[in-house]
Amino acid sequence: MDDKIWLSSPHMGGNEMQYVQEAFVTNWVAPLGPNVTGFEVDLKLYLNADSNVVALCSGTAAIHLALILLGVSPGDEVICQSMTFSASANPIAYLGATPVFIDSEPDTWNMSPEFLEMAIRDRISKGRKPKAIIPVHLYGMPAKMSDIMAIAEKYGIPVLEDAAEALGSEINGKHCGTFGEMACLSFNGNKIITTSGGGALVAKEKRNTDRAIFLATQARDTAPHYQHSQIGYNYRMSNICAGIGRGQMEVLDRHIALRRANFEFYKKAFLGVSSISFLEEPKGYFSNRWLSAILVNPENGITRETIRLALEAENIESRPLWKPMHLQPVFSSSPFYGGKMSEELFNNGLCLPSGSNLKEEELERTVNVILRVFQKAEV
Ligand SMILES: *Cc1c(COP(=O)(O)O)cnc(C)c1O
Repeated sequence: MDDKIWLSSPHMGGNEMQYVQEAFVTNWVAPLGPNVTGFEVDLKLYLNADSNVVALCSGTAAIHLALILLGVSPGDEVICQSMTFSASANPIAYLGATPVFIDSEPDTWNMSPEFLEMAIRDRISKGRKPKAIIPVHLYGMPAKMSDIMAIAEKYGIPVLEDAAEALGSEINGKHCGTFGEMACLSFNGNKIITTSGGGALVAKEKRNTDRAIFLATQARDTAPHYQHSQIGYNYRMSNICAGIGRGQMEVLDRHIALRRANFEFYKKAFLGVSSISFLEEPKGYFSNRWLSAILVNPENGITRETIRLALEAENIESRPLWKPMHLQPVFSSSPFYGGKMSEELFNNGLCLPSGSNLKEEELERTVNVILRVFQKAEV
């Protein structure tokens, strides 16, 4: 059996250990320290906006804190893109609120502005104005932020961007994570950069990141003893993890270029296969191409599952696109606004190996398995 080809594996740049070692040498082995501060500064400079950044233990924690800061409480409703990873929606449930799911549109596979506005009007007419809107930049492709922000402003609802998959993605030079009131980033093991596990909250207003730090460190009031007037969390990033993050920031742009090259490789390889298609960048859009995804038209009998199983038989990992949240048993009672777009994407979409550390021969092995599936079908 050939070596396993992973969907998206960690890719160290080389200097990570230096930062981690520094943490050991100076004994900053704690959920705070110079690496945490340094990593936050690196992220802030990279996003190149008047953003404030707090490093946290996960992207999920960032969404949870952001929703608290936006005042989401039990009984509230929060609008969320349906096609996403469950971590976009779970924190809504942590707070006793209800997610209202929105279908995707075909240009970016992200939140449909039309269905978003339809949902807002309908919820308002029922006396249930949503507390926040969570669009997601799936696989690094930015959502239609100008339309979404315009609708959000029209109805006075804050936007929390789920940019967990989109560090480095841009619309007309403006970074994902800097459009909404707040945003989350993720540095989980399979993301474009990793701190083994970690995340960050990005906020336009410093008072929000100040409050996030307070809540993330057990909500301690100022006093010599332990004094608490609110419920707190243990959500800060460790100084060891942040050291990995500082090393990863040095190679982020290189890794984006490599991921984009993977996408181009696949696109070129499948030019002659009419039932495979790709998501192109709308004008002015720049995707970090975190994962390369294909859509498989099942008309001639070959489905994305045929391809997934053929790859699996050759020890190559691939994964269907996210199963929409409105189709998940756990969210079956949540309202949904839309049609069949995200469901069709789930039925026909497949993410191919996309790591920035893939070798050319691994890309070729992957492509050849898929081409063989189609060649076999012709005879
Ligand atoms: C990874 C991911 C998250 C969660 O990030 P964690 O750091 O794993 O908690 C949230 N939303 C999306 C879309 C993700 O892909």
